[in-house]
Amino acid sequence: MRASKIVHCVDCNEEFPRKELNRNGRCRSCAMKIIRENMGQLMAREGPHYEKWKEAIKTAAARL
Ligand SMILES: [Zn+2]
Repeated sequence: MRASKIVHCVDCNEEFPRKELNRNGRCRSCAMKIIRENMGQLMAREGPHYEKWKEAIKTAAARL
């Protein structure tokens, strides 16, 4: 019997101990990949993440 529960990362499908995955079920390297992709879109000023971010900025600005 294993000490900790083994689960699959939702992105790469590799096996990890449950405690090593984040709340979204991603391993650290996949979580980092997502962050890098988001950052890349913000830098490029395009893509769904950038659009979301832009909307959030607009909403925040409208409250001022
Ligand atoms: Zn992964």
